[in-house]
Amino acid sequence: MKNILNYINGQLIEAKSSKWLDNFNPSTGEVYSKITDSDETDLELAYQAANKAFPIWSKTSKEKRSEIMLKISSLIDENLDSLALAESVDNGKPVKLAKTVDIPRAASNMRFFATGILHYSSESQQYNDTAINYTLRKPLGAVGCISPWNLPLYLFTWKIAPALATGNTVIAKPSEITPMTAYLFSEICIKAGLPKGVLNIVHGLGHKVGAAMSKHPGIKAISFTGGTTTGETIARTAAPMFKKLSLELGGKNPNIIFADCNFEKALKTTLLSSFANQGQICLCGSRIFVEKPIYEKFKTAFVEATNKLIVGDPNNSDSNLGAIVSKDHLNKILSYVSLAKEEGGNVLTGGNQLFLNGVNANGYFMEPTIIEGLKFNCRTNQEEIFGPVVTIMPFETEDEVLKYANSTVYGLSSTVWTESTSKAQRFAQELEAGIVWINCWLVRDLRTPFGGVKNSGVGREGGFNAFNFFTEPTNVCLKL
Ligand code: NAD
Repeated sequence: MKNILNYINGQLIEAKSSKWLDNFNPSTGEVYSKITDSDETDLELAYQAANKAFPIWSKTSKEKRSEIMLKISSLIDENLDSLALAESVDNGKPVKLAKTVDIPRAASNMRFFATGILHYSSESQQYNDTAINYTLRKPLGAVGCISPWNLPLYLFTWKIAPALATGNTVIAKPSEITPMTAYLFSEICIKAGLPKGVLNIVHGLGHKVGAAMSKHPGIKAISFTGGTTTGETIARTAAPMFKKLSLELGGKNPNIIFADCNFEKALKTTLLSSFANQGQICLCGSRIFVEKPIYEKFKTAFVEATNKLIVGDPNNSDSNLGAIVSKDHLNKILSYVSLAKEEGGNVLTGGNQLFLNGVNANGYFMEPTIIEGLKFNCRTNQEEIFGPVVTIMPFETEDEVLKYANSTVYGLSSTVWTESTSKAQRFAQELEAGIVWINCWLVRDLRTPFGGVKNSGVGREGGFNAFNFFTEPTNVCLKL
């Protein structure tokens, strides 16, 4: 059994409380490791280490910082198999998904920001013949990064890489539900020679470690990805302290399919955007709107394709879906299926917990689920479910589907399927979303602004946006 320790000041150490939390394997339902149960005392130790390391790390040349980060990236690549397996055991996702998406992306996050920093320059403006202005970009100090359980190492590195590249020191908190790869990452950082105190990882519960981070007066910024309610709690504490905040929150994303789409491509991608990672991706298209002339044809083909998906042992290379991340989360998803029925929904396929055999007999599996017959404004269509459950609805006009699509409090991403460029452009303009995918889904260029509008978040990650977040500009005006 591998017990998960904090990484503070370059050391792997137990929390001061000496208490432990259980870490479950969702595909077996068994406790397979223990997590050190930290609180504000451990957070303070991490802060002291980060604060002490800041003057040296911020003055370390960007070439040197880049070199160490590239080493970390290479070590992730070298450990692809073991990290992918660890991610799968901890989260329930198929190993093949972790091996092709999560872990390679964690390596490329480190590589992308390690090389990006070498190309990051600041602006200058000449003001007639009077003066020249130039902008200094300074790191903030010790910053906090809080990440969720759905894409554990992927989102953890997505936050800490730009923070480290710009010369900040970091206190990071992975989700207590999936802490294993962050722990393995701390071992990698030690091996790569990351100086002590530059990155500190504190494990434990959100309302203890995360809350202590939000209210710590010395922590200059919080970069958070997770649920909207948690984001609100963090903002309530940190905003009055004038901390910089980047909040990447929940979604209820529309997937709009017009009759003039490329049917086969729309169908194939909709299968992924509905059920990849058991539907536990903030960008999943959980509300599918199909134009009337192709509604019945699309529905039939979609249900047929969904029925062919294999839900099974994450270790099995045939499994399309693995386990739901936790028992609580599975129960939450199932409660939304009951709600959908109460609201008049008709379950076209799925809707139930799935009981497998052998080692997976007590795992948290669920059938991929499609529900029709619901109104656009019912709770099932307005609240984030975050599981393998989608709704499907017909529409007749552009105005009608736009109203449906924009009707939720969320505005993270959206997908539009049409061969008409002008229609696609109109929708890109009108959809209330931080990301609009046209004839594709989850195609990610790491340079692009990433984030949501409305209750899906505040701020943008990605490319130079992330560097701008983790630096403070000082304008210098020099009289000519
Ligand atoms: P969550 O909000 O429960 O937890 C996220 C993190 O916040 C965890 O590390 C948790 O320990 C911590 N936390 C919990 N309470 C806290 C508090 N009071 N103060 C500070 N930190 C606290 O979210 P989750 O269930 O882990 O993840 C699922 C959610 O994340 C979904 O809503 C999903 O849409 C969202 N998400 C958003 C994006 C995005 O980029 N917008 C990406 C992935 C997931």
